[in-house]
Amino acid sequence: MHYFLYARKSTDVEDKQVLSIEAQLVELRALAKQEGLEIAEEFVEKQSAKMPGRPFFNAMLARIQKGEAQGIICWKIDRLARNPVDGGQIQWLLQNRTITHIQTNDRGYFSADNVLMMSVEFGMANQYIRDLSVNTARGLRQKARQGIYPGQAPLGYLNDPLTKTIAVDRKKSKIIRAAYELYAENGSRLEDVSGFLFENGIYTKATKRWKDSGNRPLKKDQAKLILTNPFYYGHFRYGGEMYEGTHTPIVSKELFDKVQKVSALRGRSQRATKQAQALCGLLKCGECGCSITAETQKGHIYYRCTKKKGSCSQPFVREEILDSQLSELLSKFHLPPHWAAELNRMADRDEKEIAHTTGASVHEMRANIAALDGKIARLTDLFVEQDIERDEYLSRKRELMSEKKSVQERILLLERNGALWLEPMRAWLKDASMLEEIAKSQNNPSKKSSLQKIFGSNLILHTREARGVPQNQWFSLAAAKENHSETDLISSLVPGVGLEPTRPCGQSILSRPRKPFRHPGVHLL
Ligand SMILES: [Zn+2]
Repeated sequence: MHYFLYARKSTDVEDKQVLSIEAQLVELRALAKQEGLEIAEEFVEKQSAKMPGRPFFNAMLARIQKGEAQGIICWKIDRLARNPVDGGQIQWLLQNRTITHIQTNDRGYFSADNVLMMSVEFGMANQYIRDLSVNTARGLRQKARQGIYPGQAPLGYLNDPLTKTIAVDRKKSKIIRAAYELYAENGSRLEDVSGFLFENGIYTKATKRWKDSGNRPLKKDQAKLILTNPFYYGHFRYGGEMYEGTHTPIVSKELFDKVQKVSALRGRSQRATKQAQALCGLLKCGECGCSITAETQKGHIYYRCTKKKGSCSQPFVREEILDSQLSELLSKFHLPPHWAAELNRMADRDEKEIAHTTGASVHEMRANIAALDGKIARLTDLFVEQDIERDEYLSRKRELMSEKKSVQERILLLERNGALWLEPMRAWLKDASMLEEIAKSQNNPSKKSSLQKIFGSNLILHTREARGVPQNQWFSLAAAKENHSETDLISSLVPGVGLEPTRPCGQSILSRPRKPFRHPGVHLL
């Protein structure tokens, strides 16, 4: 026995089944497979059924009358007949056994069925609004499967009513990304993020009940919602499931992950800090190892040991004195412009060399993605076979998809710039070139963050003096500046031909092998 599959997209304005044809086809093919029905041909109608005269419907009925098929598969009986003429025709064909079976999503209609019941069903088709909610939900699921978030676009995006897709809001997306960057630096609290958004025109709107409630910074949990929404890197949750979106991400997965890490750390210790001074948290006491904090006395700011571990004999130091010491420290690590130019030139040369060796890594990562896809597919099978619970399925799927996104992003990065380590290298050159300027400025937050890059957490305050052991390349740079004239610095700082970081150097000014330039979050592959 043969069946014709019939799908119809409504063009009725009130029927919002944007995707119904494709959705209907997907579900009907699955239905046919499940019921073991053989589809001879598919008919897709784009016209509304309210008026008689549908070309594909008529062609289908003509072929049924010729005996080419004896059954119809359609989503709902209302897909077949939404006017009395069509309804009567179908009923007649069913009654005289030209059609013996109509299978819809939820039930089957047979020649032996009560004609009256059938009429009632067809009559009800006219009240199809009753079904609209079911149909809309199906349309939305289908939309999600296609990677289009079926709802109100989050802040930073816009719903495009013409294409029914989600577009980037050029202005706000930049603000959102900046908020992520701000928080990722781990110097800001959620309140600061809200404040930042507020300054950039993103705030609460007045509600009906509270006319005065609008135009305020977002609440902490609202800011947190923004900072934890996977939508911004390209995925989205819908009906508990995670989907890969087709919308343009506005933050990288790497940045998103960084923000989650910071959030997890801060979540535990979000205590209200007393007015923090700019340099707090930068130094440790050289005697007892406690952190150095600030205190205001008679209009002056003093830095001192917190003495949390007990007795400690270290004295206070005035902010002005500490500040000038830190500025002096910073200028020791300043990279003179013509050294920076030379190092950049060498980096360019290495970049070219490395570009053609990256192919292999990319290939490997693609295999990794294929493996992850395989895992996701197997996981879905397990779930369908009811071997695992829905919660476990969802959480494992989320993990796999998150991992896949990370690998995809690394491929992109690698393809864009074959030598990943060159990015941190160039960032370092830029940082190091700006130190003189920062040292001379009154910008304490910049000083603090530069010093943290140079010393990590190794900076101590001992007998009113700040000092420490710099990390990695900073160590090399300072040593080179002390021992060499500006002209022969390059040869001592960079032995051999290139800058490739993993190469140990014997004749350099360093007594230990030079460590690779590392950058958090960037993996050398
Ligand atoms: Zn101390």
